[in-house]
Amino acid sequence: MTYSTQPTASHYINGAYVEDSNGAEISVIYPATGEVIATVHAATPAILEQAITSALAAQKSWAATSGTERGRIMRRAADMMRERNHDLSVLETFDTGKPYQETSVADATSAADALEYFGGLAATLTGEHIPLGEDFVYTRREPLGLCVGIGAWNYPAQIAAWKGAPALACGNAIVFKPSETTPLSALKVAEILHEAGLPAGLYNVVQGLGDVGASLVTDPRVDKVSLTGSVPTGRKVYAAAAEGIKHVTMELGGKSPILIFDDADIEAAVGGVILGNFYSSGQICSNGTRVFVQTGIKDAFLNRLAERLATAVIGDPQDPETSFGPMVSEAQMNIVLGYIEKGKAEGARLVAGGSRLDRDGFFVEPTIFADVTDEMTIAREEIFGPVLSVLDFDDEADGIARANDTEFGLAAGVFTSDLTRAHRVSAAFEAGTCYINTYNLAPVEAPFGGSKASGVGRENSKAAIEHYSQIKSVYVAMGPVDAPY
Ligand code: NAD
Repeated sequence: MTYSTQPTASHYINGAYVEDSNGAEISVIYPATGEVIATVHAATPAILEQAITSALAAQKSWAATSGTERGRIMRRAADMMRERNHDLSVLETFDTGKPYQETSVADATSAADALEYFGGLAATLTGEHIPLGEDFVYTRREPLGLCVGIGAWNYPAQIAAWKGAPALACGNAIVFKPSETTPLSALKVAEILHEAGLPAGLYNVVQGLGDVGASLVTDPRVDKVSLTGSVPTGRKVYAAAAEGIKHVTMELGGKSPILIFDDADIEAAVGGVILGNFYSSGQICSNGTRVFVQTGIKDAFLNRLAERLATAVIGDPQDPETSFGPMVSEAQMNIVLGYIEKGKAEGARLVAGGSRLDRDGFFVEPTIFADVTDEMTIAREEIFGPVLSVLDFDDEADGIARANDTEFGLAAGVFTSDLTRAHRVSAAFEAGTCYINTYNLAPVEAPFGGSKASGVGRENSKAAIEHYSQIKSVYVAMGPVDAPY
């Protein structure tokens, strides 16, 4: 391998790479081959202390820097990220196993979008003036202080920026802990931000497993926690944050529905379902894994889906021609294979895939089950792999009720050519993001997040500002104080 995937050191603190080899070793494995491509060390208490104290020391003067200046640095970082997109995408592909075809358009570029967007907003963040006759109140939009970000492994660079960009735009400092499965890209985000002129200490990266995340969440000096992860982890982190009355953003899991009506454009529906189930080998939180197909087009839909799926190019993820890569880890592959076995055992009809591929790495075939019913495990639990369940429906109201019959509420999609039905169904969906005649797009301009067990708060868009800042009211009296005695 000519490309070096070993980072300079495990952590990035106070504007520099920092190592502490007393921390437990974490091997970084290339999912396409199973090779160890880097080793990092989990953060020790001393490393966490350095990260927190440097963030606290830097935050006050950053908050006092004008929004225009903060934004300029962030937008410079966005430009640098785009210039380095190729190298960042190669690294992201080594870290996650996702095809370069995807990482080159959806990872560092999405991180750059967040830095550019929130960099642009930074100068516009203001309070308001509230007249009260002679007296008045003005509000100040202030940062929260020290934010902690904890990431999942499916979009490492993107998650590092989706949390870091709004935090920095609002004048906060952040300590980010990437997933232990994909620790590499966040270090690059930190490096670029500092090269772009970000003062030391404002964006720190520390490595580690859940215990390191938990230490950060419970530290009394931390004001806000933003987690991207599973619902079980979300419950723990939310509870720990509640103990300290900290602000939270929870971006959690899903089991999202897609309703495809008889009058849908089949090519669009098949395309949406491919994006919503097989992109990133199915490792996307908002995936539409419960595909409800109205019985009138079921056969046509399944046939066309199988035809298009057969053209997927499965192979070396660094090859730009490859369009379908491995699962992120052996553990995740085994979870997915376990669900496939459950699907078969519970009577779902396997119509495509269903097996591990006979090659190195953690490849699972794109898998489709038909005749899935609502109570089957594969229709109820988040699989986080390339396993699509097709369920039948006839009646719109019944389809909506079944779509909503889940603890999750991250996303939902509808394919139909009936304009009023598209909006009626979207209004009825219990989900944070709905799609009409497309699926799984997440532009930085639009709020993204879950309802029900899928989360709390929103990332991206102006909505994220509410979750990284707080309002202070200042009452100004213009006359004497009217006290009763
Ligand atoms: P995970 O919940 O296992 O881990 C997420 C992160 O939390 C990791 O960094 C982990 O080290 C950390 N963590 C674990 N226990 C912790 C604790 N007690 N305290 C603090 N931190 C702790 O999730 P994963 O397997 O890395 O990612 C897959 C999950 O993430 C899926 O459920 C997926 O739906 C979800 N996800 C959600 C979104 C979204 O935006 N809603 C995006 C991507 C992934």
